[in-house]
Amino acid sequence: MSEGEFCVVCGATGRSLVDGVCAECAADRTPLLSAPKRAEVTVCPTCGARRRGAHWERAGSSPVLTAEDLAPFLQIPDEVAVRRVQWEETMATATVRELVGRARVRFRGIERDVEVPLSVRTIRMTCPECSRKSGKYYTATIQMRGPADGPSEKPIALRARLEEEWTRLVREMRPDWRNAVAWREELPEGWNCFFTDTLAARAVAKLAKQRFGASLKESSSLVGRKNGQDLYRVTFCLRFARRPSDPSSKGPTTGVGGVVEQ
Ligand SMILES: [Zn+2]
Ligand SMILES: [Zn+2]
Repeated sequence: MSEGEFCVVCGATGRSLVDGVCAECAADRTPLLSAPKRAEVTVCPTCGARRRGAHWERAGSSPVLTAEDLAPFLQIPDEVAVRRVQWEETMATATVRELVGRARVRFRGIERDVEVPLSVRTIRMTCPECSRKSGKYYTATIQMRGPADGPSEKPIALRARLEEEWTRLVREMRPDWRNAVAWREELPEGWNCFFTDTLAARAVAKLAKQRFGASLKESSSLVGRKNGQDLYRVTFCLRFARRPSDPSSKGPTTGVGGVVEQ
């Protein structure tokens, strides 16, 4: 800063300027903290683990959302440091909590108080570990994949894209179909969704084909015999083409969708 320079907005002198603007004025003109309109936290109702991208963590914690669950949704610009945040609930339903985060932030040497609204949906989904421990059985699998002959997609982007399809699908599922979803697993080539009811899995697979244009292939394999009857497991392979509106270069979206277990 050289002598005699002044802020082009407020005219103050003797302040350090960035692009001709003092910190106070810049703070008025830039969002110092923001959050996505809607956020989702996936919680295992059995062990309290949270799903973070491809992983589950914090098994053993309370299923009730805490600041630790909310902080990751804050979008903090490079020049901003968050001193503290206090969350206040303004409204809550069974699955959605409306909150306001009151934060003290530091920006270019000055401190400000900002408020960030956040709406968080809690998704209850049994984590793979608890599914395995509980020995949950399944009768059918829905495989969600990209096109067989399409351009290759990076696993993370592909899974994120398929996760969005899954979220759309879950919204359209009948409650009994949703209840038949035991657990899901991530794979480099997509998702496997395990069902405890083959008819429900077939209904979901058909829904995906009819409503979302996925291609569907059904196959079954003999897995054993029970009470003199052959036991089959049925696999539905759904292939989803990219939607025209999907920006192909877009990275993964975080915390989208999940299986609702009620
Ligand atoms: Zn100024
Ligand atoms: Zn669990």
